[in-house]
Amino acid sequence: MRMDSVKSPSEIARDTLKLLATRRLPPTPENYQSLYEEVSGSRSPPQFPTAQLRQILRVMPGQTPGQKRLLDQLESAITQQDWSMLKNVLVGYASLGLAPAATPAPVKTSIVHLPATLAQNLSRLVNNSLPALGDDDPRVHELAKELCTFLRAPEPPVATAERLLNDFGYRLSFAAEDQAAIRQGLLALLRLVFENIAALSMDEPWLHGQAEALLAASTPPLTLRRLDDVQKRLKDVIFKQSEAKDRSLQAQTQMRELLATFIERLAQMDESSSSYNETMESCAERIGHATQLQDITPLLEEVMAATRAMAHSSRVTRGELQELRERAEVTHAEIDQLRRDLDHASAQARHDPLTGALNRKGLDEVMEREIARARRQDAPLCVALLDIDNFKSINDRLGHAVGDEALLHLVQVTREVMRPQDQLARHGGEEFVLILPDTDLADGVKAMERLQRELTTRYFLKEQERLLITFSAGVAQVAGEQDSADAIRRADQGMYLAKRTGKNRVVAA
Ligand code: GH3
Ligand code: MG
Ligand code: MG
Repeated sequence: MRMDSVKSPSEIARDTLKLLATRRLPPTPENYQSLYEEVSGSRSPPQFPTAQLRQILRVMPGQTPGQKRLLDQLESAITQQDWSMLKNVLVGYASLGLAPAATPAPVKTSIVHLPATLAQNLSRLVNNSLPALGDDDPRVHELAKELCTFLRAPEPPVATAERLLNDFGYRLSFAAEDQAAIRQGLLALLRLVFENIAALSMDEPWLHGQAEALLAASTPPLTLRRLDDVQKRLKDVIFKQSEAKDRSLQAQTQMRELLATFIERLAQMDESSSSYNETMESCAERIGHATQLQDITPLLEEVMAATRAMAHSSRVTRGELQELRERAEVTHAEIDQLRRDLDHASAQARHDPLTGALNRKGLDEVMEREIARARRQDAPLCVALLDIDNFKSINDRLGHAVGDEALLHLVQVTREVMRPQDQLARHGGEEFVLILPDTDLADGVKAMERLQRELTTRYFLKEQERLLITFSAGVAQVAGEQDSADAIRRADQGMYLAKRTGKNRVVAA
């Protein structure tokens, strides 16, 4: 761009168009204008935004005499494109509320003291927020105490309230942030522990499954119920792990002892055979040098004795090895028995080893707790019982192992689809019970139908075959004095009715 020579308007216009093209700018009036100014080296005065200001004019208030006057002035400022008049109008509007002479209408008494109920509510709010903050920051508690004492005094002055609230709010924001960070940190730690358990328990499928379930259960968002579940699972895992540790320690000791004995015997064998070899060699040499028969006779006797000793020693060793093998077999049988005992013990735990869902024992405990809670809070509670349709045919056609996988698939989809507070228990074979807190009968039926729909979209894939799993279910609301068994029985009747009327349906019992 040449600034030294003066350009004619048409030159400026042509250069401007060229510049638009080389800079690849869209040819809007604004772009053209700014490039035009750049080329010509002059700046035109900014345009008065008449149209936009007229739009504002239409929505400005004009009820009170003061507002009417300002509205008229605004209109003339726009018509005359007068910036300084416009400024005066804006300032006038801004000071309308401040000039009591111009607006005598609203009857406002300036508040000096906080109204008693507001002060009371504020104090309660501050108090209620404290438990969430823990005891990590004593200063926030001091400030809260100071604020509450002040708010409970008669006629607390507004200005002081403002200052104290400000201080408290500031500190609170830090304390709340800290608490959130602590929570996240703890959760991360917890997950690390679970991952560790999972990694350590590769050879214990039951434990591994439980550890995976723990990981899933500790994934945010957390609820008290889920934390409770995590705690129970962890107890099961610890129990099982300590059993497993004892067992492996015991097996290790026995194996070490056996190994030591083997090595000892091997060494003895080697020793006796090498001394036998030496005797043989020396005898062979001496026989080679012998010139008459009577020299050979004692040598032969020596050979015979050494051979007899060798045979005896290997007989002894063979006998000992046989004994060792028998002992190893006994140890093996003991370990097998321990394993069976452990399987029995895991049946005593609260979760089903195959699916990780609650077992009967877990179901009973959860039902007892939920029924008590529902009564206490006068909240509805539903139980649903579902039974997989034609499950036997999956087993018959594809084998029991695929049947097991299908059960796992159902459990996984259920966990994903239902709310975190809903609990799943394996009631037996291919029957499951769902406990649905805070749910009335209509909602319970809806929830189960939703699960049915989700199961049809998340099909179970087995060797390229899409297996559709459906179930029939009965839903019962736990009523009044009813106990867990009554409710489950009614849900079972509903399920039975669902089967009889064509399967793949949900019946309210
Ligand atoms: P319906 O629609 O009437 O319920 O028919 P169904 O075939 O599902 O019902 P039935 O009660 O006749 O058969 C249930 C089958 O579930 C029989 C049993 O072998 C199988 N089963 C029970 N527990 C398990 C398990 O843990 N794993 C596998 N793979 N199969 C199981
Ligand atoms: Mg069944
Ligand atoms: Mg069935």
